[in-house]
Amino acid sequence: MRARHYCADCLTAREHGPSDSGDFACDKCGKAYSARCDTAMDAEGVAQCAFCGGHAFFLQKDFDQRLGCLVMAVSLAIALFVGWRAGWIWFTPVLLASVVVDWIVAARIKPVTICYRCDAEYRDVPVHPRHQGYDPHVAERYAETKTVRRMR
Ligand SMILES: [Zn+2]
Ligand SMILES: [Zn+2]
Repeated sequence: MRARHYCADCLTAREHGPSDSGDFACDKCGKAYSARCDTAMDAEGVAQCAFCGGHAFFLQKDFDQRLGCLVMAVSLAIALFVGWRAGWIWFTPVLLASVVVDWIVAARIKPVTICYRCDAEYRDVPVHPRHQGYDPHVAERYAETKTVRRMR
């Protein structure tokens, strides 16, 4: 398990391992926080946030949108190159094939588990059967304690 904590004041990210427990301080601004990574997991996945104690999490594909655009651009470039060299009849099949490859790659990317309350991110953890995608109604309940990260 890898847990990424975001400082509530300066948003500096810091990675924590499964045995990190105790008091820590932000590398940048020195704001103190505590981590309880050893009790965050239950048998099925992340059950209690190691940093804020929250019980609500959502899942998000750990996939950079910019990377997705780059992959599409590369697919198109390959199809154009093959079309130019081997004949334009190959353009569409090659483009479709590379799009299918992109789908397979995207489907294999594990989702990241994110705490609604403090935005902490958990990777290399099993997907908890209770967790689902981002739900704005659940997020609303945490609006008062929300960090500024998503409001920017
Ligand atoms: Zn900080
Ligand atoms: Zn949290």
